[in-house]
Amino acid sequence: MILMRYAEGGARVFRVEDIPLVGCIAFGLIDRGTNLIQVRPTSICPLSCVFCSTDSGPKSRGRITEYLVSLDCLVENFRRLASVKGDGVEAHIDTVGDPLTYPWLVELVSELRGVRGVEVVSMQTHGSLLNEKLLDELSSAGLSRINLSIDAIDADLAKRLSDTEWYDVKRVAELAGYIVDNTSIDLLVAPVWVPGLNDQEIPKIIEFSLSVGAGEKWPPLGVQKYEAHKRGRKPSGVHPISWRSFYDKLRQWEEEFGVKLRLSPEDFSIRRAPSLPVLYRKLEKVSVRVVGPGWLRGEKLAVTSRGDRVITLVGADHIPIGASVKARILTNKHNIYVAEPIS
Ligand code: SF4
Repeated sequence: MILMRYAEGGARVFRVEDIPLVGCIAFGLIDRGTNLIQVRPTSICPLSCVFCSTDSGPKSRGRITEYLVSLDCLVENFRRLASVKGDGVEAHIDTVGDPLTYPWLVELVSELRGVRGVEVVSMQTHGSLLNEKLLDELSSAGLSRINLSIDAIDADLAKRLSDTEWYDVKRVAELAGYIVDNTSIDLLVAPVWVPGLNDQEIPKIIEFSLSVGAGEKWPPLGVQKYEAHKRGRKPSGVHPISWRSFYDKLRQWEEEFGVKLRLSPEDFSIRRAPSLPVLYRKLEKVSVRVVGPGWLRGEKLAVTSRGDRVITLVGADHIPIGASVKARILTNKHNIYVAEPIS
């Protein structure tokens, strides 16, 4: 069901329910074979960061649809997936947008926290829609950690990086302090380092994170490396640096500030764990039914005829919703499927 047009961007919002939630990168559940399950309840974002790897937000050029997943459907599917993982599961709400746009976020955190085997519920956000009341509610619901992206301390630069005039990084910084002082949520500050745009800001962000008291149970900082993604936004004149240069710089900052910045999965107790089987091989021909609009131009959302996976159909502009077609699987990594229609 298409609910409404979304903000300036013009993408429609599609309510996801009664379809499988494993298989599409834009929403649902992603299982990469560890004890961490990525939970994607919404694809919507209020910001339009100039470096966004998923071309998110009102200024997106490529998106034609945003997805909102029904709470019941998401929790039920999560419970099933978590049951194959055993103990020590982390539910990580990360999205291709911002989780704070999910209308039932507090309920989601509470439900995930109650699933057998779940020990950690964490969330990745830029924090632009946070406030004290919401933080209190998320804390009471059992949110364990917020990975909060702050990409600049300088307020003007922060607006330019987010390409959003109303974005107020001072307010986000204030709320970071509130998280540490007034909630049981752990704070990890996660700036994206975009070479040439915010090099001078990263040391300031490190100082800020340490001064505010981030990282009680987990590391206080997780500096993220800017990468130029095929469908993401690429600021002009910015070139990604090599991983070697990235880690060299992290090492320098570690020495300068006395804080661990080069992180590994062990820092978050992430380990291999049983995962769902990959059901469809590359190049395999499958029967699918088109159930909704695609995320990006030219795409459609489809479900396999056995009803066990959701699939992104590319080159599918001409195929109407409701049609049943044959398709060839192009990629299947981590149970995320992209297929093309066979004419
Ligand atoms: S980087 Fe995050 S906050 Fe910024 S536009 Fe992309 S999804 Fe939204």
